[in-house]
Amino acid sequence: STQTIAFIGLGNMGGPMAINLARAGLTVQAFDLDAAACARVAEHGARIADSARAAAEGADVVISMLPASRHVEGLFLGNGHEPGLLAALPAGTLLIDCSTIAPASAQKLAAAGQAGGIAVLDAPVSGGTAGAAGGTLTFMVGGTADDLARAEPILRRMGQNLFHAGGAGAGQSAKLCNNMLLGILMVGTSEALSLGQSLGLDPAVLAGIMKVSSGGNWVLEKYNPVPGVMETAPAARGYSGGFGTDLMLKDLGLALEAAIASRSPVPLGGLAESLYAAHSRAGNGGLDFSSIIGLLQARGG
Ligand code: NAD
Repeated sequence: STQTIAFIGLGNMGGPMAINLARAGLTVQAFDLDAAACARVAEHGARIADSARAAAEGADVVISMLPASRHVEGLFLGNGHEPGLLAALPAGTLLIDCSTIAPASAQKLAAAGQAGGIAVLDAPVSGGTAGAAGGTLTFMVGGTADDLARAEPILRRMGQNLFHAGGAGAGQSAKLCNNMLLGILMVGTSEALSLGQSLGLDPAVLAGIMKVSSGGNWVLEKYNPVPGVMETAPAARGYSGGFGTDLMLKDLGLALEAAIASRSPVPLGGLAESLYAAHSRAGNGGLDFSSIIGLLQARGG
């Protein structure tokens, strides 16, 4: 039987993910607070609901792709004034949260789900907006193996790599480690490219050299921060779309919280967090995180 999927949160990532499910022939009932985000998804065959609750009506699976812990907790667990959506879901519903949030929030959601007979998975993703559009995301999943087996056919419509990281919250733990590394790599790669420019090197030539040398990494391969080097990267469109600086800052904050709680030294993660905070303070929070290179580049030629 065809499954009905509620999809809540249709931003830079959720939009293309929901579109891939609709294109695969699944019934998608979608909702976002932003009407423009809804309209983009409606063009590709998803039904737009006028509330999260309406989207979840009759759904076997509920997927969320929201900015941060507070949005996910607010939606599913309520905010003191209103009850959360979780309480309205029938037992047996599968809830897959793909947002990047605190492991503790994911565990709280899983525990609340268990009390109501709702299966909950944390399934944060990596791969950027290009991965979301291309259906090539990596999913890192926390929860039970049985629930993951149930989710797998749906996740495979949106992603290529699927990992069971461990129990509830483990997907988020894996994600915050990965994104701390990504935040550091973006700063380090930006430094190297800026230094090269100061030395008179063409950034495209330097990127080509480093990509196949010992400095090679994902930023050089898929996400070059220098405008004009890579047509598919946010740098080529004024750092619009992509992965917002404030979202990276949130993820580095999650990594630092986890590091403090586990007494793990993360000196470069801490430094990266401060650099993105300064970049955000300077008014760049809404720009893609690769715009951090602007903090390091010599200006005025
Ligand atoms: P985004 O800001 O583009 O989209 C978030 C959407 O959620 C917005 O459209 C907003 O209107 C909507 N929203 C917020 N609260 C809502 C609510 N209560 N009900 C319905 N809709 C609501 O963010 P994004 O880039 O799509 O990222 C989403 C999540 O995925 C974040 O946790 C982010 O850290 C993570 N992530 C992003 C990327 C990326 O490259 N952009 C990659 C991997 C993971």
